[in-house]
Amino acid sequence: MRETILVQGAKEHNLKNVTVEIPRNQLVVVTGVSGSGKSSLAFDTVYAEGQRRYLESMSTFTKKFIAQLKKPKVDFVVGLSPVISIEQKTSVRNPRSTIGTMTDIYDYIRMMYATIGVAHCPYCGHAVAVKNPRQLLERVLALPEGTEVEIRAPAFKYYGEDYAYLFDDARTKGYRRAYINGQLVDPSQELNLDEDETYRIDLLVDRFVVRLEMEKQILSSLEHGLLLGEGFISLHVVGDPPVQLGRLPGKQGGKKSLSLEQFYTDVCCPEHGVVMGEVEPHYFSFNLPSASSSCATCLGLGTYRQVHPDLLIVDPNKSVRNGAFAKEALNFDKNNWTGRIVYSVAQHYGFSLDIPFKDMSPEAVEILFYGTKGEKFKIVLPEGATVGTQHAGREMRFGGIISHIERSYRRYRKEGIFNHWMEEWLKKVMVEHVCPDCGGKRLKPQRFLVTVGGKTIHELGEMIYADLVAFLEQVQVPARKKEAGDQIIHEIIRRLRLLLDIGLDYLTLNRPANTLSGGESQRIRLSTQIGSDLMGMLYVLDEPTIGLHPHDSDKMITTLRRLRDLGNSVVVVEHDEA
Ligand SMILES: [Zn+2]
Ligand SMILES: [Zn+2]
Repeated sequence: MRETILVQGAKEHNLKNVTVEIPRNQLVVVTGVSGSGKSSLAFDTVYAEGQRRYLESMSTFTKKFIAQLKKPKVDFVVGLSPVISIEQKTSVRNPRSTIGTMTDIYDYIRMMYATIGVAHCPYCGHAVAVKNPRQLLERVLALPEGTEVEIRAPAFKYYGEDYAYLFDDARTKGYRRAYINGQLVDPSQELNLDEDETYRIDLLVDRFVVRLEMEKQILSSLEHGLLLGEGFISLHVVGDPPVQLGRLPGKQGGKKSLSLEQFYTDVCCPEHGVVMGEVEPHYFSFNLPSASSSCATCLGLGTYRQVHPDLLIVDPNKSVRNGAFAKEALNFDKNNWTGRIVYSVAQHYGFSLDIPFKDMSPEAVEILFYGTKGEKFKIVLPEGATVGTQHAGREMRFGGIISHIERSYRRYRKEGIFNHWMEEWLKKVMVEHVCPDCGGKRLKPQRFLVTVGGKTIHELGEMIYADLVAFLEQVQVPARKKEAGDQIIHEIIRRLRLLLDIGLDYLTLNRPANTLSGGESQRIRLSTQIGSDLMGMLYVLDEPTIGLHPHDSDKMITTLRRLRDLGNSVVVVEHDEA
């Protein structure tokens, strides 16, 4: 293999037919006075050519989807490796992205929670066993034949909805009986629940008598229950226990059957019968809007936007027709659709659009903001309208300005695709809050019932790296999960150390990626590269030590040497001559 990268006749930007050989597998610094063409050589020639060739090597099918890259002005470059540039810019588009997710460390953290996490009863916090449905089935079948068992799923009010909504939701999923504070009820009857009170609600999933031939039904009920209870179910022995239960453990097919007491103490929360189903890494995933683990209100963003009426009204002394509203909220024109609708609504309800907004009646404002609540009205054209006659007389409903904005926002969030125009529009009409449901923690509340070393995944993500490493080093891994658990923790610590090594000990995994400075995100990407153990690559970096303390500069240089020692070529552009 070549020892150097040969650049022959580079003429990009201000480069004047430069020919240069860059040693491979070394740390090479490109320096010189401002305007001497350092970046033109490193980024616009070496990196650009490497990138172009990489894309060239892809199938024609793939190439169709990628913009054709212009060939840099250079005669030829030989000895290139696959090239990665680590620049100083922050271009994080996914608002769900955190340092944890951008470094892949969060993937290992999720794996750690799934492997060695301790589950807790949602009602009393007592540690409960984590068993997969098959294991639970075995436990249930180990009860004396004839025992009557109920499977229930804990349920919690949805944020912003009432109890009726919870029971309706359960009914559409096929569950029609529930326990409220331990009392069996039929939720289709009048319940008289106080919405401000917190009740312990368990949905009844199934009731059966333990018999070997029931195996299939029991397993399926366990699985459905775990789905309904977000990973948790409770098991209850009900009715008259068979004679031997709790007193004379009998034999079933040669196996010793479980006493009721054993059943509860070994498996469930002794007070509430709660047990947890298998935990999987996706259980803690929030960075896809479709993820079933994301907080149901903010879909994993941790923030939530609400319309603030003050944002909509820019001048209450003006009338609706003459610009009381921000254009983004209501753009009134006698010839546009909005103007036509709002005018017709005003005619129908008999209010004026020509008086100052501040003098309008609360009822009129309510209709403008929240709509006609399903009531229909006829379209009337505003006086002077020159278009729209074909719509006149049509029957319409009006959803209201605020409802319209909120609906658009919900739909946009559900899509989960970043749209610059939409973001700008939302900023003008809505205010961002910490999500009132999850409090910024991004996940469903049940996810925080699983802890490692006594901490939830959110609490772990709030710790600065220096503390987090110390914490992980003392986590006790249960003996039967020793191998897997130790391996995962070791990998997390290794990756965190890489971040500590480049002076990022003050960051946390939960920190949103879009709040990082250019230098910070460059260093994080660098550590991710080292963590991935790639070799034979060519890295091109722009001023990696900018803004660093001399002490941290040394750490950065050590890190770059490590990248080189893994078997990579590193080219650094340095503008500072010092
Ligand atoms: Zn409990
Ligand atoms: Zn939330």
